[in-house]
Amino acid sequence: MTAIPFDNSYVRLPDRFFARRAPTPVAAPRLIRLNGDLAAILGIDGVWVAGPAGVEMLAGNTVPEGADPIATAYAGHQFGNFVPQLGDGRAVLLGEVVDRDGHRHDIQLKGAGPTPFSRRGDGRAALGPVLREYLVSEAMAALGIPTTRALAAVVTGEPVLRETRLPGAVLARVAASHIRVGSFQYFAARGDTEAVRALADHVLARHYPEKSSAEHPYRALLAGVVARQADLVASWLLVGFVHGVMNTDNMSVAGETIDYGPCAFLDAYDPRTRFSSIDAHGRYAYGQQPGIALWNLTRLAETLLPLLAEDEAASVEAAETTLAGFSPRFEAAYRGGLAKKLGLSGERAGDAALADDLLARMAENQADFTLTFRRLCDAAERPDADVGVRDLFVDPTEFDAWVVRWRERLANEGRNPAATAAAMRAVNPAFIPRNHHVEAMIAAAVEQGDFGPFEDMLAVLARPYDDQPTNARYAEAPVGGGVGYRTFC
Ligand code: AMP
Ligand code: MG
Ligand code: MG
Repeated sequence: MTAIPFDNSYVRLPDRFFARRAPTPVAAPRLIRLNGDLAAILGIDGVWVAGPAGVEMLAGNTVPEGADPIATAYAGHQFGNFVPQLGDGRAVLLGEVVDRDGHRHDIQLKGAGPTPFSRRGDGRAALGPVLREYLVSEAMAALGIPTTRALAAVVTGEPVLRETRLPGAVLARVAASHIRVGSFQYFAARGDTEAVRALADHVLARHYPEKSSAEHPYRALLAGVVARQADLVASWLLVGFVHGVMNTDNMSVAGETIDYGPCAFLDAYDPRTRFSSIDAHGRYAYGQQPGIALWNLTRLAETLLPLLAEDEAASVEAAETTLAGFSPRFEAAYRGGLAKKLGLSGERAGDAALADDLLARMAENQADFTLTFRRLCDAAERPDADVGVRDLFVDPTEFDAWVVRWRERLANEGRNPAATAAAMRAVNPAFIPRNHHVEAMIAAAVEQGDFGPFEDMLAVLARPYDDQPTNARYAEAPVGGGVGYRTFC
């Protein structure tokens, strides 16, 4: 029996889709963490992968049997500017596995050394960003949001040079696929319609098999990506997630959250929040994300135009009709999600206004996003718990004015308060990866070699919807509401 049951499909696409390239070995690999549950789901031999041979493989020092390592080609709009060739510059796709439920997954090593797409980059990853991606992607999975997963992290025993010398690391990442909007753009920009068609067929078979038999499969494909991205971005907003770098090369056609770089979660609610130090104009700010997703999907639609209909006018019309599905789909997901966060099961006139009014008051009063909704769960159960929410507002009377109307609306639901509170706790997390804790976790690991905080946070964030009184400090908002927090990935 082979240790990893590879079944590689992307390498069966034409040669111009990728470059064959094995990972570059590193000096002294050491395992930081293995995600044993995920390994088991993938059918990986747990004893082998946790042992010395597994660590060598996870670091890229050996290529496991059945792997066919490649770097994939893609293009992308970075902050609105088109770059015709990006590609996996520091990631190697070892291959794919099909899990026991029939789902196909990529296993990729990020930080595995240079590839033909590295340009001037070193092909490596620093420990801090690897830990951030590991933790945040696993937190997103536990929150129930489609995402790539972390299979393992290893330190390489080699430094990487950024502004300073930093310890190097490799992240083993698992995704439904790493096919991006930018993958389509790479071929469309070269006028290679046959490649666009081959990629579309691959994506249809792999991610949207139910659409393969549609009357217009490529329109159905576009509609499928539109729907999944609308749902995905709604789910981000509902937990306060800011992706930070929604370039078209960082948007998955499978609808997963990918490429955790400068991402971070809101503390105080403000839709203008952006964390990334390179996002000077707030293109990828929290509240911009739905619009940017649609912009990216429009770029995807452009690549598919030759496939959508016989002539250009009909193709453009088909694309526009399909893209028009984004906003209603997003609105339904976002509005429905907000209603649930407020404990409302049925939909009534005025619900959207009630939710928007709360959000406006939160923004005015620098109320912490996660704590406001989590404490509202208690308030749904006991009116005396209102105090916990109103304390989050600079002017607590702003909350008082709102809560009266919420109570009236809840009374109309006719649900008992304990049931409402329980339903609310299932959608309003107590624990998100708080930026100040993420930074402290990274500092402990990088500066002291102490991975205790990383392990602690992983355990807490695996159960985000459970009250965990002994871990309450991880739920607290930062002093000052986290204003001015910046990420540098
Ligand atoms: P990202 O900002 O992570 O989406 O990456 C954008 C592009 O830069 C992708 O083509 C990456 O593969 C490439 N890239 C990022 N960091 C490095 C690096 N250290 N070495 C080589 N390529 C890199
Ligand atoms: Mg990227
Ligand atoms: Mg990245």
